[in-house]
Amino acid sequence: MDLHLSAEQAAVRQLAADFVDREVAPHAAAWDRRESVDPAIVGKLGEVGFLGLTIAEQQGGSGGDHLSYCLVLEELGRGDSAVRGIVSVSLGLVAKSIAAQGSPEQRAQWLPRLCSGAALGCFALTEPDSGSDAAALTTRAVRDGTDWLITGGKVFITNGTTADVALVFARTGGPGHRGITAFLVPTDAPGLSRREIHGKLGLRGQATGELRFDGVRVPDSARLGEEGAGFRLALATLAKGRMSVAAGCVGIAQGCLDAAVGYAGQRTQFGKPIAGHQLVQQLLARIAVDTAAARLLVWRVADLIDRGEPFATEASMAKLFASEAAVRAANDAIQVFGGYGYIDEYPVGKYLRDARVATLYEGTSQIQQLLIGRALTGVNAF
Ligand SMILES: Cc1cc2nc3c(=O)[nH]c(=O)nc-3n(C[C@H](O)[C@H](O)[C@H](O)COP(=O)(O)OP(=O)(O)OC[C@H]3O[C@@H](n4cnc5c(N)ncnc54)[C@H](O)[C@@H]3O)c2cc1C
Repeated sequence: MDLHLSAEQAAVRQLAADFVDREVAPHAAAWDRRESVDPAIVGKLGEVGFLGLTIAEQQGGSGGDHLSYCLVLEELGRGDSAVRGIVSVSLGLVAKSIAAQGSPEQRAQWLPRLCSGAALGCFALTEPDSGSDAAALTTRAVRDGTDWLITGGKVFITNGTTADVALVFARTGGPGHRGITAFLVPTDAPGLSRREIHGKLGLRGQATGELRFDGVRVPDSARLGEEGAGFRLALATLAKGRMSVAAGCVGIAQGCLDAAVGYAGQRTQFGKPIAGHQLVQQLLARIAVDTAAARLLVWRVADLIDRGEPFATEASMAKLFASEAAVRAANDAIQVFGGYGYIDEYPVGKYLRDARVATLYEGTSQIQQLLIGRALTGVNAF
């Protein structure tokens, strides 16, 4: 079915599949209904090493290459995108940024806890008036002696109400991307308040929050990277993040394929299993091709990263295709299930709701197309 995997990669994939079948998939529908995953899942993810993948063991991580990371995220996406998102953000966006840019003190302070699941991270870039145009953000950090005072608001922040540390992007200089600096802000800092956003179409088990900063004081040692280098850090982080979203989408598409093939073999209409009707096979074939193509695009990005090659455009391609493919696959799977696909007794409706956000966050499908177009032509069409 796939390209060759090393023995370690195959073992990690099996570990993830078993973990998902035991700890995630049986609970996903209930977590979705009550709008909260079991918080204990974070510790379990840490225990099995999934919150420390690709981070060096000396820094508190569990090592491993990016293909292994994608294999795990695919399995988590198959089980529950709410859980996949917790890992993508706390590990993929926060811990990896600290590993890449953090001072020795910042790494020692946060990485062992983030990688073990003792702490969670969130990535606070989006604001009410700056989404796709993230460089227009207005949250400000101003110097006060050797400290910084942060004031402003963030919205749609995954893990926002559950995280222990927020990677916050704030304006420390003039307008545009050069005036942005990144800070690691403990979420119990005085002046920081949080509110959970309810009523999401999908990812209902995942905590999505608004953060409000009213003169939140942090020392200069909380600054992550150079002053003015925050936006570059955000872009580099999101490029890898797009691979992890895409890997989760492959899991959604694979879950849809498994469910649809299984159902088509059991459901009988016109005197034979619906799998024997050509138009049902057409739906199944389309899901299968979408799944395989998305997986190969994701694996290409992981391979480029593991070989130290540029990967940003390929990550945009993988994210664009895999997110749209997951939506198509879930929609096709509902068609195979007929009316039963429309009620929550079967997983395919949830797959559609969960897949939909992947075409929106970490850069919408339009933004990915503009990034790919710019790489092809050298012309910025934003
Ligand atoms: C569940 C969820 C979780 C999220 N988690 C996080 C998180 O953890 N951290 C974080 O910082 N953010 C997070 N986000 C925010 C997410 O990244 C933004 O919603 C996304 O970047 C889009 O921004 P926006 O919603 O403001 O839409 P807008 O930027 O207002 O876009 C609206 C529409 O206009 C289109 N558009 C905008 N500009 C252009 C252009 N130049 N050309 C063509 N079309 C354009 C867009 O493609 C879109 O269709 C999350 C969002 C959701 C829904």
